[in-house]
Amino acid sequence: MNAVRNNTATGTTATAEAAGHYRGRFAPSPTGLLHLGSLVAALASWLDARASGGAWLVRMEDLDEPRNRPGSAAALLATLDALGLVPDEPVLYQSAQQDRYLQAFATLQARGLIYRCICSRNEASFPYPGTCRDAGHPAGRPGAWRLRMPEGDSRFTDRFQGQVRFRAGELGDPVLLRRDGIVAYQLAVVVDDLAQGITDVVRGADLLDSTPWQLAIIEALGARPPRYAHVPLITEADGRKLAKSQRSLPLDALAPQRELLRALTLLRQQPPAELIPATPAAILEWAVAHWSPAGFAGQRSIAAV
Ligand code: GLU
Repeated sequence: MNAVRNNTATGTTATAEAAGHYRGRFAPSPTGLLHLGSLVAALASWLDARASGGAWLVRMEDLDEPRNRPGSAAALLATLDALGLVPDEPVLYQSAQQDRYLQAFATLQARGLIYRCICSRNEASFPYPGTCRDAGHPAGRPGAWRLRMPEGDSRFTDRFQGQVRFRAGELGDPVLLRRDGIVAYQLAVVVDDLAQGITDVVRGADLLDSTPWQLAIIEALGARPPRYAHVPLITEADGRKLAKSQRSLPLDALAPQRELLRALTLLRQQPPAELIPATPAAILEWAVAHWSPAGFAGQRSIAAV
């Protein structure tokens, strides 16, 4: 892990950890605009950081070039700014951190913890059955690289969801380097969370089942994991994914107050009616003082009625 540690973008990792400071982050992918679901994740991570007297960072997860949408990163940042969610450090762009990921990748390779997978998309169904695990395919063949997940169940304590357990084999071995040469989200997110000295990952519950993979990568790198806390995923009234509907339309950056109050209500923070005419700053100030994850703890999803 030293190789990765020594190469931090911010240079603040050591001091932050030594002081035991809280460092949180919001890590959007620039594939579209901020919507109600991503606002809830952004706001929860910001509130949790502020309520802990900690720092809050924004990281642009723009490695998946084919999925990036032009202008999306700038638009996301402008919306966050209008909402009053302003990062404490310069935004980190993953596309500028390739060396760091490849260094971590080399460490895992040297430790014999990854393997070449030549399965086609169809063969690599989820959970990946491990077809190539012991096949010893040489590095030269086209394919992806996967992490060997450790045997046994994966258990962790989530600050908001409590005890979480995935059975052995339930998730399969994750891809770390894709067939097209792109560094996979699972590796990049871990390398950056470590390099940026993130102590608390607060994000949507759609990523709960990525957490065992991320914990396994961190373990394989010999590093200490952050704490994880998953906020409920915002869904349609019938529980379906919030997508291509009215509610997943881009947030109205001209009415940040309304959006903040809507997100706080969904997070069961019970903002009082007196806040309706308040400025975003005043709403956020109230929300930090009253931040109560107990309002949604244990809930994996909340319907936006
Ligand atoms: N970039 C990921 C996404 O937009 C989130 C990463 C994370 O919070 O760990 O879904």
